Amino acid sequence: MADINEVLDKAKVLASTAGEKSQELYQISKNKVEIAQLNMKLDKNYMSIGKKVYDAVKAGEELPDFAALIEEIDLLKADIEEKRDIISAIKNTVRCPSCGADINEDNSFCPKCGAQIK
Ligand SMILES: [Zn+2]
Repeated sequence: MADINEVLDKAKVLASTAGEKSQELYQISKNKVEIAQLNMKLDKNYMSIGKKVYDAVKAGEELPDFAALIEEIDLLKADIEEKRDIISAIKNTVRCPSCGADINEDNSFCPKCGAQIK
């Protein structure tokens, strides 16, 4: 039969191993969350670069490598505008020519950006 001290020692080892395991799991989870946050920041920076490239091409810069993507972005933007116009037609509102907000056609100024409507 095992000595009581031997049993207690084994229990202590098991408890500290469990503690180490949960500490490891916590560290893994914590680092995974931090990686996800860093990837979001990375994506945001990539998007900023993309927007700068898009704006540069629209301002006249020649960047043929991006022509297909720029064209696709323009088609997507046109598609979005079309759908916003459909919503405006259903809601009987007009679109602000400055910011695109959906506004009551009685308004003389856009309540969102202040642009004059008529
Ligand atoms: Zn507006």
